[in-house]
Amino acid sequence: MKKLVSVVIPAYNEEDNLMVIIDRLENIFLNSSYDVEFIIVDDGSSDQTALILKAMTKLRQNIFYIGFSRNFGHQVALKAGLDKAKGDCVISLDADLQHPPELIIDMLRKWEEGYEVVYTRRKEDKRLPLMKRKMSSLFYHLLNVLSDVNIESGTADFRLMDKKVVDVFRDMEEYEPFIRGLVKWMGYNQYAIDYIPNERYSGSSKYNLKKMIRLGIHGVTSFSIKPLYTAVYLGFMFSLLSVLYIPYVLYAFCEGIEVDGWASLIMTVVFFGGLQLIILGIIGVYIGKMFMQTKNRPGYIISHTNLTQ
Ligand code: UDP
Ligand code: MG
Repeated sequence: MKKLVSVVIPAYNEEDNLMVIIDRLENIFLNSSYDVEFIIVDDGSSDQTALILKAMTKLRQNIFYIGFSRNFGHQVALKAGLDKAKGDCVISLDADLQHPPELIIDMLRKWEEGYEVVYTRRKEDKRLPLMKRKMSSLFYHLLNVLSDVNIESGTADFRLMDKKVVDVFRDMEEYEPFIRGLVKWMGYNQYAIDYIPNERYSGSSKYNLKKMIRLGIHGVTSFSIKPLYTAVYLGFMFSLLSVLYIPYVLYAFCEGIEVDGWASLIMTVVFFGGLQLIILGIIGVYIGKMFMQTKNRPGYIISHTNLTQ
């Protein structure tokens, strides 16, 4: 019996890309020794994505779609696809063809060699806007400094996971999962393949600066409580400084030295005001995450699908 490979594709307003990516993928599996199923997650698209998906399922038996009731975000869409995949291994990739589908052949080969996770590392792409490249490397740098998992630069959500890894992943009920971190955290035998990303085939990137910063904060706070220690370290540092300053203040008082204090006073007040707000904010982010997690809401809501279970 042939092994089944599930391919999971999150799609948010990708109407012009879907046909192309499925064709490219079908070609790869055409004469292979695998059966393939495609699970496309329509993340609340407002364009023709849903209609195109429905039409595609009429033409091919192995295409399944999951339509969300609204936009839940890339990571959640991926999670939904992984939840429903039935394959012996699951491959996830973006709908926009930036992840070259042909790399799947190498991934499958490594899987057959016994690796349970085959992930990919994006090589620096000079065609990407400088801002995006810088943001990306800053993101991975910060993530590694501030958190307890070590995620290599350029690791995106283009990877193969063995069924047993997916089974473990499925049981994790994390609110807003940060999948690349979780996969690294899980361990297993992992193998990395480097690739040069293609340009987006059609449409535009769904990650703006705001979403990227959100993902960054989320990535760090999902894997580490190191930021919470900032308050402790800074608190100690400034207490020490103030202890050094007190003798001078007393001396000035006793000697009757008149102090022009306005500028220094106002700067100190503003500085510490800002610092306290930042620390409060950091604590707030963690409390917010706890709050969202305790509510135990479903991670996503499926409004239409052709999957039977
Ligand atoms: N995506 C999604 N939901 C979102 C944003 C993005 O499902 O809210 C999908 C999108 O359709 C694509 C993948 O996630 O398949 C990666 O998004 P994109 O290409 O916009 O990100 P970039 O490559 O620019 O980082
Ligand atoms: Mg993209």
